[in-house]
Amino acid sequence: MKAVCWQGTKHVEVQKVPDPQILNPRDIIVKITSTAICGSDLHLFDGVIPAMQKGDILGHEFMGEVVELGPHVKNLRVGDKVVVPFNISCGHCFFCHRQEYSLCDNSNPKPELAEKIYGHGASGLFGYSHMYGGYAGGQAEYARVPFGDVGPLKVPTDMDDEKVLFLSDIFPTGYMAAANCNIQMGDTVAVWGCGPVGLFAIESAYLLGAERVIAIDHVPERLQMAKNVCKAEVLNYEEVDVLDELNILTGGRGPDACIDAVGLEAHGTDLYSKYETAKMSVKMATDRPIALRQAIQACRKGGTVSIPGVYGGFLDKVPLGAAFAKGLTFRMGQTHVRKYMEALLEHIVQGDVDPSFLITHRINIEDAPDAYKTFLDKKDNCIKVVIKNH
Ligand SMILES: [Zn+2]
Ligand SMILES: [Zn+2]
Repeated sequence: MKAVCWQGTKHVEVQKVPDPQILNPRDIIVKITSTAICGSDLHLFDGVIPAMQKGDILGHEFMGEVVELGPHVKNLRVGDKVVVPFNISCGHCFFCHRQEYSLCDNSNPKPELAEKIYGHGASGLFGYSHMYGGYAGGQAEYARVPFGDVGPLKVPTDMDDEKVLFLSDIFPTGYMAAANCNIQMGDTVAVWGCGPVGLFAIESAYLLGAERVIAIDHVPERLQMAKNVCKAEVLNYEEVDVLDELNILTGGRGPDACIDAVGLEAHGTDLYSKYETAKMSVKMATDRPIALRQAIQACRKGGTVSIPGVYGGFLDKVPLGAAFAKGLTFRMGQTHVRKYMEALLEHIVQGDVDPSFLITHRINIEDAPDAYKTFLDKKDNCIKVVIKNH
């Protein structure tokens, strides 16, 4: 089969590789019909996530048709149309029983590196380095899905792939970010980053009862989408002082909740952001927490800072004093995708949200290497790339 393979920093290739096989009785094989490139794939492309090996198949947002089932998978049939969560979960451990699927204890066969860095390992992830299990990803024609009886969600066969594909990651991720804000009727939520996760966080904040959502970015087409499609008020951080503006918009109190949907590769305009980049280059820090700092400063007293943006390592100059003085609550982490899929499918079926609004690029798998570059450079108004296998 054809697959998008990591070759090194800023270098991916489409290669011919062996088709995946059933290895364990709970595996399934999915023939992939649609798969997306995620903002977090750019961290791999950029080489900031450790433990990638040459030839690793990328991709963790995929769906398709079940073509083969291990003997212990009883809840699916050949021919079913399924969306696959990006995290792999056993369904039976302490964490899976609590629906904390991204914390599964049994799906990462090589947790040693994560244990060393983080204290404990988390779940395995498709196509996301050997720190997360080294599983082959879904930017390919086929994928082996371990614990196929747990993660994959069966969707109606007549449903357009484009409407349900994002249940694999970014819609649940935006939704969990908003759910973590404990939104009360009438709340104001501020969202840093109008990429796909930020946009779904805006949509989800409204679904959960927010009265106002204020979105912050600097890419014009992203701000436009946040405003026109997702109905957020928008701030361009290159044009206004974000902290002043948020105070003005909330009568001096600050937003009830702040969502950092930017994460470790945040960019900014001020001197600090250049200083952050310099520190990363000499390994004094691994992440640039510019959006997070602003979110902490902006949040109202007693409010919540929710972090769906990915962080990998160490942060410098995070104003924990401000967080303490203001009594903030922090919620974060990889998404427990499976926990939210059914409810969100229902919202899609009901027509409350049509996630396909996000797709700006539809390509064949051969064009993936170019698409990674376009997406990284935010060229051609690129917000979301979907690879279609026909
Ligand atoms: Zn993703
Ligand atoms: Zn588990």
